[in-house]
Amino acid sequence: MVNCLNKNYYVCTGCALLCDDIEVEVSGDHITKIKTVCRKGFSRIGGCIEPMPCTSDGKSVDITTAIKDAASILMNADNPLIFGLGNSTSGAQKQAIELAKRIGAVIDDSSSFCQGPIIEAILHEKIHTCTLDDVRNRADVIVYWGADPSNSHPRHLSMHSYFPRGEERQHGWEDDRTAIAIDVRRSHTAKICGNRFYQIPLHTDAFLIEALIDALSGKVPKVPFEYDIKKILELANVLKKAQFGVIFAGLGVVYSIGDMGTMTRLMDKLNEVSNFHLIPMMGHYNMRGFNQNLFEATGYFNRVKFEKRENGFDVKHGVDYSIMEVLNTKKTDAALIIGSDPMSCLPRSTAEYLSEIPLVSIGPCENFTSRVAKVTIPSALSGVECGGSAVRMDGVKVTFEPMIKTARLSDEEILKRIMEAI
Ligand code: SF4
Repeated sequence: MVNCLNKNYYVCTGCALLCDDIEVEVSGDHITKIKTVCRKGFSRIGGCIEPMPCTSDGKSVDITTAIKDAASILMNADNPLIFGLGNSTSGAQKQAIELAKRIGAVIDDSSSFCQGPIIEAILHEKIHTCTLDDVRNRADVIVYWGADPSNSHPRHLSMHSYFPRGEERQHGWEDDRTAIAIDVRRSHTAKICGNRFYQIPLHTDAFLIEALIDALSGKVPKVPFEYDIKKILELANVLKKAQFGVIFAGLGVVYSIGDMGTMTRLMDKLNEVSNFHLIPMMGHYNMRGFNQNLFEATGYFNRVKFEKRENGFDVKHGVDYSIMEVLNTKKTDAALIIGSDPMSCLPRSTAEYLSEIPLVSIGPCENFTSRVAKVTIPSALSGVECGGSAVRMDGVKVTFEPMIKTARLSDEEILKRIMEAI
């Protein structure tokens, strides 16, 4: 909560922008009015349609019983899996990492099948990045690549990237900024970019990257017939002239290029001829926090296995320890899912195995995963009913206070109590 001119401003945890100018009116333990927030944040702050029940084996139980049963499932497992945490506070993430060490678990989050490669490149300092405040104050060329923030992060363009006035961009979007969209379809964001929309065929982002590297190197780009060479030269020219450029990389480009090698080469080339930065368009409000917290604890940002030893544990890392792999190969025999719904976001053939093993689901809202769980534990909605801290999509740490009180425990407290029970 930020106090400014006697007004209290809160942080929205609806997406990884973590907007910190939210006003709410409260009556008792209820929010009666929400101001400033976008439609996505409104729905987050508004709470769950169906709150998570507290159950064990399909029966309603008290929280102490649910925690004891959850601990028993995890203790009795040979190869437990902990997954989720992108919508949890950093405190809860650190607690989950400690729990994973204690029980010798695989721990992973959804970055292992989305923005993980970019975060890895940034944490290993292979890709030049910057903050959203730098973008607001300095950016003159903004590229939305495989991203549609008008829908995924609705206040992105107005708060940080295209529309605001900034210290070095007093004329804002009218004169001082050029917004470019590269995408396979004319998204809402692409429409805002007008004639700076570069439409490319599906799965051809890597060709465009190579062509841009050629063009930036003064060569004639070799491209598939669908590409218009003149447009590529025109785009390369705009990028080259940027005083402070930024690429917002969405899932469209990440899924299309696979590994980050080609993007890293483009960023290197851009920084030879110009000044460019890249920020990943993280979805969950604290996915980047999970990656950073795990990186600090292990040197790896996701897909980690803690192997118990007599005097501690070994840390293993790799594809074998991604949620997709451990479920596809049926290598896990119990799972703890925190603030996530893999039953709805993973392919059915992969996720189905979760319904065959003892499953504990912690979260504020009921979902497909909690419906097949053996134990369900309701938690406070972070950012609304409990405070904490998180890492914004650009790596900036943001702390927040609860907007209202609740009797429900936070994810962090639940995980602490599971540790105590173990
Ligand atoms: S843009 Fe994201 S953080 Fe900002 S108000 Fe909307 S959902 Fe919340």
